[in-house]
Amino acid sequence: MALIVQKYGGTSVADAERIQSVAQRIAARHRAGDKLVVVVSAMGDTTDRLLELASQVSEHPEARELDVLLSTGEMVTKTLVAMALHSLDIEAVSLTGAQAGLRTDTAHGRARILEVEPARIERELERGRVVIVAGFQGISEELEVTTLGRGASDITPVALAAALKAERCEIYTDVDGVYTADPRIEPNARKLRDITYEEMLEFSSTGARVLHPRAAELGMVYGIPIVIASSFSEEPGTLIHGGVSMEQFNKVRGIAHDPRIAKVTLRGVPDQPGIAASIFEPLAERHISVDTIVQNASVERLTDLTFTLDAKDLAAATPIVEELAKAVGATDVVADDELGKVSIVGTGIQSAPGYASRMFRALSDADINVEMISTSEIRITCIIQRADVEKAVRALHKAFELEKADTGEL
Ligand code: ADP
Ligand code: ASP
Ligand code: MG
Repeated sequence: MALIVQKYGGTSVADAERIQSVAQRIAARHRAGDKLVVVVSAMGDTTDRLLELASQVSEHPEARELDVLLSTGEMVTKTLVAMALHSLDIEAVSLTGAQAGLRTDTAHGRARILEVEPARIERELERGRVVIVAGFQGISEELEVTTLGRGASDITPVALAAALKAERCEIYTDVDGVYTADPRIEPNARKLRDITYEEMLEFSSTGARVLHPRAAELGMVYGIPIVIASSFSEEPGTLIHGGVSMEQFNKVRGIAHDPRIAKVTLRGVPDQPGIAASIFEPLAERHISVDTIVQNASVERLTDLTFTLDAKDLAAATPIVEELAKAVGATDVVADDELGKVSIVGTGIQSAPGYASRMFRALSDADINVEMISTSEIRITCIIQRADVEKAVRALHKAFELEKADTGEL
């Protein structure tokens, strides 16, 4: 009898009919003898609608109230799934994040899980019940409701799987696995049989929203096997694991993209120690994460400093950067919020020669201008114009022959 933690995403529980079909899948597994903890997201675009409602009544909704509001989305789903299971004669109980023991810090809207107290879930499992848990939410030490961040209901099942020492975490979504690129953009994308935590983490961090990066990270730290599969079919999914890829090592596994990137350049910054820290510290304090940073070689002790960030953070970052520019004596600040990024991901690609040049050649052949480049051990990222992002995904997919079963090697 295996203990499995499952998660069903928003599209999979978008209406009553889909909730019933999810309940049937859960019932079949329960009857087959598995012990199940099931995490659910808010139905369809509920979270967006709640955010929109909040913005209609307040220009700056208070973070505490917003978290309580957003947490209701997942509460509706978990209750309905439990009811649907009851009508199939399955014993089930639904729990909020707080009842499930998810303790977080107090950072509303982007809380981090501090610990999971699994006693309540364990009691319910011992009674033979299926436990349904509202994803994306927890409770702080001050007993305030918190949420983990957009798309973060993926984190809940991995954290629960770690705390409960579950055999596996199964994430059910609207695609049947991790593909070599977003299948909605590249029709020739191929489903990967397996992928390592490191590759998945880079994939997610560079835009493949099929799994939240913090879920990949938690899976890696606790060694939880994660399967991504479809809630609409019985197709085998993609296994995320800690070993060496079953498919060939040292090759491009896929293309990730993110169409919402902005770039900020501070021009004429005095080239002296401490300047970079004085610029990036205030941004970090306001939880604005900065991605690629490039500092040009200085001419007459003046330099240009450029960095990228999520386009949605640009409005919050601009006044801070303008104030800093004045304080450090920079000439001016220019921003561009019409950018995107495209990345090739694969273990060892940075150390193998030829991948970068092949990437740049493919982009240039497609008439795409590269604005900035950043690399990690297993990733090369190019910042390009937003309008070129989809074309770039397809060009790179083709250049690295990812549609073929065993290719991508140089
Ligand atoms: P859920 O609501 O189930 O969490 P998401 O919309 O967050 O689902 O994530 C699933 C989506 O991720 C897919 O519909 C797909 O368009 C997108 N996606 C992006 N990159 C990839 C990829 N490499 N493989 C599979 N899906 C991807
Ligand atoms: N409902 C939340 C959101 O839409 C969390 C999630 O679905 O992952 O961001
Ligand atoms: Mg998601």
